[in-house]
Parts: sequence; C-alpha cells; structure tokens
Amino acid sequence: MAQKIWLDGKLVDREDAKITVFDHGLLYGDGVFEGIRVYDARVFELDAHIKRLYESAKSIRLDISMSKSALAGAVSQTVEANGIAEGYVRLVVTRGEGDLGLDPFICKSSCIFIIADNIQLYPEELYEKGMKLISATTVRNHPLAIPPQAKTLNYLNNILAKIEALDNDVPEAIMYNHEGYVAEASGDNVLIVKDGVIYTPPAEAGALPGITQGIVVKLAKQENIQVVEKNLTRFDLYVADEFFLTGTAAEVIGIVEVDKRVIGDGRPGPITRLLRKKFFEYAHGKGA
Ligand code: PMP
Repeated sequence: MAQKIWLDGKLVDREDAKITVFDHGLLYGDGVFEGIRVYDARVFELDAHIKRLYESAKSIRLDISMSKSALAGAVSQTVEANGIAEGYVRLVVTRGEGDLGLDPFICKSSCIFIIADNIQLYPEELYEKGMKLISATTVRNHPLAIPPQAKTLNYLNNILAKIEALDNDVPEAIMYNHEGYVAEASGDNVLIVKDGVIYTPPAEAGALPGITQGIVVKLAKQENIQVVEKNLTRFDLYVADEFFLTGTAAEVIGIVEVDKRVIGDGRPGPITRLLRKKFFEYAHGKGA
C-alpha cells in the first residue's frame, strides 16, 4: 500500500507530498512539531501532544490555522489511512511560504503535514543490557534564547550532541546547560534514582517537558516512589544508583554507563525495569 501523507488538508501519495523551498520551516527551522506513538492502532496521548504543539506554536507567534480537534482528527485519519497499528507519527507545522528574509509575517499561512510511519526502535537487547552514554561538550541552548518547553524545528543544538554521541559509538549524549547542570539527552529526558528517590531536571535547566516523562512520573508515584525535580550535575549522574531516559521513541531505557563510569551494578536497575513494565502496560491499555 502506498504511503499516504496528510498535507494541508489532503491525504496525498508520498511522491506528491512536497513543500516549497521558500518554506520558512526549511529556510530557518521556523516551526514546531510533535512525535507521537501509535499502540494497538490507537494514537497515544494525542491530547497531550496537541496541547504541547499549540503551546509551542503560541510561544513563537505561529498561528495554526486549524482547531485542535480538527488537527487531532487529521492525525487519527492519517494513521488509519496507512493501516498503522504499531507506529510513529510526525506532526509538523511550519511557518509556511515566505521570501528569503527573516520576516515570519510575510508567510501567509502555516504549512501542516502529518507522516504516519513504522517505528524504528532501539534493539531489544539494548533495553535488557542497558545503554552507554557520553556527556556532550555542546552546551544546551540557553533557556532564555529558545524556550526548552517549545518543541521547535530548530534541532541543530541536539543534532550536534547526537553527532558527538555517534562519534563515540554510543546512541545518545547528555547535554548540560550554560551553568553545567544536566538538561536532557539529545532526544530524551534524563531521570536518575538515588536512595529510592527519582530525580529529574526542571524545564528551566533546558529540558523539554516530555510526555513520556510525565506518564512515567505518574506511574512512579502510583508505586509510592517519590519524584523530585532538581538541578543535577555530572557527579549526580556518575554516582546514581539507577539512570534511565524517557522519550516517545525510546519509551523507558536504562543507562548503565556514562563517560566510562558504570552506573549501579552495570545493569538496568529494579526501578527502571519496574517503570518500563508499567509503561508498557499503560501504553497497551492494561494499566491505570
Ligand atoms: N527532549 C527532547 C529534546 C526531545 O526531542 C524529546 C522527544 N523526542 C524528549 C525530550 C522526550 O519527550 P516526549 O516524551 O514527549 O517524546
């Protein structure tokens, strides 16, 4: 079956899903997006993703020329049209067609597209054995420059960290902010466990408030595990009992080594494994 892309109100064949080279999303990274999972043919946490998308857009003065419910409907329609049961959706809103100047208000209307695709997951072995990471030297964007809460098309900061990770033969890198505190990984949130308590950096440290993280925090609290938002240093990561990342694509993945420091006993810890299991159950509608 040919892949169908939703583009500005219509489902079109992949070959016909084209946008202009004058789109400011392409020329300047001027736009916002969401990555969303599909589990059991249901779009996961769609309302939360739509809310974050509209807030991201509002913060950059980007008008999404559709209602939230119409856009949510378009996401479901795209998933259905492609027969996706387990997959990934990319929902993108760009500033639209303009000219070669920066002026975003030249762009008459935003461009909206939705891609529903299969998901490329980390291999199962990585979840069982845990992942190794490095600290990136690339400093996270200053939170007062581009708000970390906005999921914008400006991902070069994260891509530079990802390049450092790949150059070091690991899949992810930890990014630190201008003050040296942990912000997030290049595409995931950071959580550690110390003495039975989960710690995670606040958004102000340079972290996107992750939807997966939000669910995992809720699930942890249901298990009577305390969760504290707090600035974390490199030292805190090195001496953590457990360490894991959360994200739409990665879900919950244990970290077992950072900058050659082994975390805990070198295997994903018990709280990490419990929360991965609880998240699976929740995503597949078997949990709370
Ligand atoms: N931080 C960054 C920079 C991300 O791109 C993402 C999403 N891939 C996350 C955190 C995790 O957010 P979510 O759980 O909403 O996918």
